[in-house]
Amino acid sequence: MEDPSTTPAVAARSSELFDQVVNLCKRRGFVFPSAEIYGGIRSTYDYGPLGTLMLRNVKDAWWRAMVQERDDVVALDAAILTNPKVWEASGHLATFTDPLIDCRNCKERWRQDQIGDTCPNCGSKDLTDARPFNLMFKTFVGPVEDDSNVAYLRPETAQGMFVNFANVMGSMRLKPPFGIAQQGRSFRNEITPGNFVFRTREFEQMELEFFVPPKDAPKWHEYWCNERLNWYRRFGISESLLRLRVHDKEELSHYSAGTSDVEFDFPWGWGELEGIANRTDFDLKAHAAHSGERLEYFDQATGERYVPYVIEPAAGATRTMMAFLISAYDEDEVGGEKRTVLRLHPHLAPYQVAVLPLSKKETLTPLAREVLGILKTSFMCEYDDTQSIGRRYRRQDEIGTPLCVTVDFDSLDDGAVTVRDRDTTEQRRIAIGDLVGEIAGYLARPFSDPRALKN
Ligand code: ATP
Repeated sequence: MEDPSTTPAVAARSSELFDQVVNLCKRRGFVFPSAEIYGGIRSTYDYGPLGTLMLRNVKDAWWRAMVQERDDVVALDAAILTNPKVWEASGHLATFTDPLIDCRNCKERWRQDQIGDTCPNCGSKDLTDARPFNLMFKTFVGPVEDDSNVAYLRPETAQGMFVNFANVMGSMRLKPPFGIAQQGRSFRNEITPGNFVFRTREFEQMELEFFVPPKDAPKWHEYWCNERLNWYRRFGISESLLRLRVHDKEELSHYSAGTSDVEFDFPWGWGELEGIANRTDFDLKAHAAHSGERLEYFDQATGERYVPYVIEPAAGATRTMMAFLISAYDEDEVGGEKRTVLRLHPHLAPYQVAVLPLSKKETLTPLAREVLGILKTSFMCEYDDTQSIGRRYRRQDEIGTPLCVTVDFDSLDDGAVTVRDRDTTEQRRIAIGDLVGEIAGYLARPFSDPRALKN
């Protein structure tokens, strides 16, 4: 029987959804092609006003769960350009490669593992043999461009945690199990970037290196797989679009004793959001051998000494933001009118509140501005007094703003405003003095996507 998830109708709907999300991102200021006035540069993107806010919210949501709400994880922000010996020790110089092949017919270049034996561009089978292509961007530090000044843009944030292991453990008086968390830009000279911000050459990562006694590594690996899967659920990705996939033995990286990926059902199929690896003691041992420094835990009281194992949940912030957008995209009808609505978790939406004076009349503006002033010290707000109120609600729905606060002529007398919920479109009258507390309470509630209740 035909798999219903692969029928042409499903494929067409998926590709339509992808186009709708990419289109909305451009139209509403989430993501723009980079340097578009110069024709862009392939698969490089700039984050617009709303995308910048949302990306920051995705990273904050991760940061809260991985650092703020825990007492066993500390923060780090390591340099992007570092000593090239780091990449020698980590194995990146020797092995961080993809198999590159050329199509002799149309001259396109591909990653062999992504295309099989046929050129996706022209259909030719006249392909070269694969050769390893290192994905690290090379540059020079200082004015002289010679071999002794070569440096690399980091291809992952993880190595910053390993090379600072002793500094962090010593300065913070830590004992395994403990973690070091970091977010930041990474760079990979991908052979075939694409699918919008899914695979770009410059992207943002959110990584945790969790150092544990070696015997406890399998237990912690399982723990982090569950934690991370639950994080995506908690922030609104529906169960049917998420899965955990265990890597086969042949697929494992050179450092890994076990990896599971959190995958999302993208419009073109399942793709990785995050890899959760048991990196063993590979990195600490490699850096100890290359640097001559001891990188191990030593307990003076008991004489216990060991090189910790590392469990690494490594996620992509930009790729994850895209998954949240795709998962949140919805169309429905309100009062017989079609609307597009982003059902984003309220913490992830670019704005938490829109303040909308019912009319542009001068009598309403001072109070509406006053309400904005009260709310914007606690929440990210937008003020909009253009067009009809219905149109303004639609505009906010389309960018996922969970609450609209409308200031009307009654507000001048009763000191209250109307608060409208994006998902239910229900409206409640709330005293201006209670607004901050009411909205904070709303934002603290566990989020449930109304579509999940319908199914
Ligand atoms: P892939 O198999 O998709 O190339 P990877 O297994 O090489 O990814 P990791 O090295 O595990 O990726 O990096 C951790 C995370 O960083 C990935 O799960 C992904 O979310 C993100 N990431 C990696 N490469 C890119 C990229 N080129 N563009 C955007 N995000 C990326």
